[in-house]
Amino acid sequence: MLDALFKPRSVAIIGASNNPLSIGHIVMQNLLDHNFKGPIYPINPKSKFIKSFRAYTSVSEIPDEVDLVNISIKNTLVPYVLEDCGKKGVKFAIVHTAGFKEVGEEGLQLERQIVEIAHKYGMRIYGPNSQGIQNSDPAISVYANFTFVPMSPGNISIVAQSGGVGETLKLHLYRIGKGIRMYSSFGNEADVSMNEIIDYYGQDEETKVIMVHIETMKDPAGFLEVASRVTQKKPILALKTGKTSEGAVAVASHTGSLMEQDTLTEVIFKKAGVLRFHSQEDMIDAAVAFANQPVPPGDRVVIVTNTGGPAIIAVDECISAGLKMAKLSAKTKNTLKKLVFQEAIVSNPVDVVATAGPEQYGGTVEALLKDPNIDSVLLVFVTAPFVDCEGIARKLGELGKTADKPIVCQVMTIEKWQEVIRLIRASGIPVYDFAETAARTLASMTQYGQIQQRPTPTFVTFRKQKKKVEVILSKHKKEFFLSQQDVYDILSAYGIPAAKTVKVTKDKDLAKVAKEVGYPLVLKVDSESIVHKSDVGGVALGIKDESVLLSVHKKMAKKFAKHKPDFILQEHLTGGKEVIMGLKGNVGLEPTVMFGLGGVFVEVLKDVEFRLAPLSEEDAIEMIQSIKGYPILKGTRGEKPVDIDAVVDMLIRLSQLGTDFPQLDEMDLNPVFVFPKGKGAAVVDARIKLKSL
Ligand code: ADP
Ligand code: MG
Repeated sequence: MLDALFKPRSVAIIGASNNPLSIGHIVMQNLLDHNFKGPIYPINPKSKFIKSFRAYTSVSEIPDEVDLVNISIKNTLVPYVLEDCGKKGVKFAIVHTAGFKEVGEEGLQLERQIVEIAHKYGMRIYGPNSQGIQNSDPAISVYANFTFVPMSPGNISIVAQSGGVGETLKLHLYRIGKGIRMYSSFGNEADVSMNEIIDYYGQDEETKVIMVHIETMKDPAGFLEVASRVTQKKPILALKTGKTSEGAVAVASHTGSLMEQDTLTEVIFKKAGVLRFHSQEDMIDAAVAFANQPVPPGDRVVIVTNTGGPAIIAVDECISAGLKMAKLSAKTKNTLKKLVFQEAIVSNPVDVVATAGPEQYGGTVEALLKDPNIDSVLLVFVTAPFVDCEGIARKLGELGKTADKPIVCQVMTIEKWQEVIRLIRASGIPVYDFAETAARTLASMTQYGQIQQRPTPTFVTFRKQKKKVEVILSKHKKEFFLSQQDVYDILSAYGIPAAKTVKVTKDKDLAKVAKEVGYPLVLKVDSESIVHKSDVGGVALGIKDESVLLSVHKKMAKKFAKHKPDFILQEHLTGGKEVIMGLKGNVGLEPTVMFGLGGVFVEVLKDVEFRLAPLSEEDAIEMIQSIKGYPILKGTRGEKPVDIDAVVDMLIRLSQLGTDFPQLDEMDLNPVFVFPKGKGAAVVDARIKLKSL
């Protein structure tokens, strides 16, 4: 519960001062400037008064209860004042002071110490090294922050890891006349966490949209849990920065090497239904639309314009963002034809032409809003000097206030018609400079609509022999890679189909084992030190009889003598398409599952999809359909479709294996042969690497 932080009944300022350049002074001034509704208690042992307020030497002297303190004194003094705060029963301490974890080991110790002191008294620390919080709720109006952007009420709440980024977001909203609901930039996150704040915003009735800026996710599992809950109620827009990291760890599998630093963020956001943005500007543009517009029920957009070209750009951008151009109903077409000028084009886009006045432009939008074939409306509007532009804006404004479908707008104008923009914006319709922006914004809203409508996922649980895998893994504590025999046994325990594979223990058994497998077959070298077998001549395909087998084996045995390898024999499969599946363990989170086309597709095109386990049936299907090469699996140009159901089944089994055994670090099934529909699929090559314990 963060009520005493975001809705404090009283605030004390430790480090309040008459020096206008001090943090304490600025925080106090901000509270005063924004008419904080509770009492403010400056703490300063050296001054009797701060501004016209009586100053106290310590919080313990304050005659009333204190919910929140803002601390901006020297770092080494913080523990002492916290003791006083704790005894006083203060609930939250915003520590602005820097010089903690961010400066190294000594700072980290100090940071741990202040959290310990706070917790001893049931108090919470916000920060340290933090900007502060704001809440524009008129009943509270708290600006416990040392920054400068004026605050006015709105329904967008912001939580930013970087104060600079948070400030940029706030500043831009302010410039376009948009208020905010709550704001926080939490600094070192020693105690009060970003996840708690998101959760709190999620429960705040007045917050319609949440903007998040993240640099490093401290608790990804917690984020996943909180965000998944919140996005069912309201959109979370996120900017995750710092994608490139020198910390790229050495990986031994395809799955590992194909995963980029950013993949984990992607899969977490995807699972939680968080909308990701790649620039501050894009995120703000979308937030403004979400703040006042309804979420579209579907992906069918209509474009209305009074000038040609920009509408074409809007169409292009809508299509490439995944929206569909709505087909107007016959009824709507009839209404429009009667309404607009003769030279207008009643299609999609609807071009009402530049001479359209309030009746034509406004009437068109009104009719389109009633059309059941339309989910969202994009307006392109140039202030033609020969028509009543303010009249059009007024009409659009009226429609915008009551519309149950989102409307976004590009307005082309100059200062002279600023009233046009003001009128449209006042109705809640966002106004952008470019059609591309309007289109992308609608696409984000549509995507959120789809997230909200996601069906409850179907989780199937297969019968599996977990014990068997436990036994196999228990003898491998120190080993990195599992032997082929163990790998195939694990696959079999989880019902993951594989080509018949038998290990050859003694050379003299070769012919006997071959009979068991059956010709034609494949001979493969098996050694921990040989990663890509075929690259070094360790795979012999299509061996058709015993004499070939014996001679190939002899050659391989000689070639790899120094590795002291084992050998496996495997049935030679034909007629399948090669795909790759993989698993990569995560720390403190379920593993990531990968799927893609095998062979050259994975090597060169990196055409792979990732999802976080546990995979639902819908996740697995979506993964398969999302790869660019999906048409190859679905069957193109007369080719038969492959057995997609078998792939879905295998991906889910793989996901369950990963969930059950967090000690699996990397796993590659490369390739898996997928046969035509109804004929199943089979692994022909698999590798498992364990986490080093
Ligand atoms: P590696 O990946 O270590 O080089 P693989 O076992 O994957 O070795 O074999 C290399 C390639 O040989 C596979 O990608 C596949 O095209 C083919 N191959 C391997 N095993 C079989 C098999 N049992 N049946 C048919 N083709 C196979
Ligand atoms: Mg392989």
